[in-house]
Amino acid sequence: MSSLRNKSVIVTGATRGIGKGIARVFASKGAKVLIVGRDAQAGAATVAEIEKAGGTAKFFAGNVTTRAGAASIAAAAVAAFGGIDVLCANAGIFPAAKLDTMTDAQWDEVFTVNVKGMFLTVQACLPELKKSGAGRIVITSSITGPITGFPGWSHYGATKAAQLGFMRTAAIELAKFGITVNAVLPGNIATEGLAALGPDYAASAAAIIPLKRLGSVEDIGHAAAFFASPEAGYITGQALAIDGGQVLPESPQALEA
Ligand code: NAP
Repeated sequence: MSSLRNKSVIVTGATRGIGKGIARVFASKGAKVLIVGRDAQAGAATVAEIEKAGGTAKFFAGNVTTRAGAASIAAAAVAAFGGIDVLCANAGIFPAAKLDTMTDAQWDEVFTVNVKGMFLTVQACLPELKKSGAGRIVITSSITGPITGFPGWSHYGATKAAQLGFMRTAAIELAKFGITVNAVLPGNIATEGLAALGPDYAASAAAIIPLKRLGSVEDIGHAAAFFASPEAGYITGQALAIDGGQVLPESPQALEA
């Protein structure tokens, strides 16, 4: 797939973690990538890393949770690269809160970033994605919610399932503009965010994955790049789990047999 060369790509939540991996993969394929997040220092480090590897990237300090913030992200991509061909709506948070004590504020925060932030960013980018003629939207959902559950993440899982509900209707509405909308569903990916959950979480997750390792951020980046490619132009409204087979075993015995 050499066909992403010179495409203008926005990756939200690209200052670290999965978004940074997605940005690195797109840049390695010749795309021009707008790195979006709030942490300017981390954003500058991501740009420096991409440029050192021969890629093109710019940082924009943007917050996806407000209409003005989303509009400024789209405007920054136009100013930097002349338009928008691909939006990777990846910014997300996953703080834990048990259902019996969860507050309104905890529920609202996760929905505001993960669902409203996605909606606002997609909407802000639509005029330029329509102009592209082959616009691509790639949403970072999760296996958590659409397929699996984990204690402490009832609100988070609900947001990740909500993203897929959004995707299916958006894919129909945007088809007439040649825009496809698809989602990557990461399993347990080695990121700073995941590391913050502690070593026990990572070790226990790896043990139940048939491929016996956590995913890398590039594993997600390659799937996102495929959805963004011309070769995937007839695929829309689809959700792809990238999880090393984590959701497959019916029981622990399935891994031992
Ligand atoms: P992470 O390491 O915590 O990174 C989150 C990114 O989102 C950061 O770049 C952060 O940037 C950005 N962000 C958060 N709030 C934002 C806001 N309001 N506006 C703009 N950017 C914001 O998390 P991650 O593990 O890479 O997760 C990225 C995505 O993958 C999320 O949607 C998550 O649900 C999904 N996911 C992750 C895993 C996993 O195993 N790690 C599994 C399934 C799905 P700043 O702090 O600079 O703003």
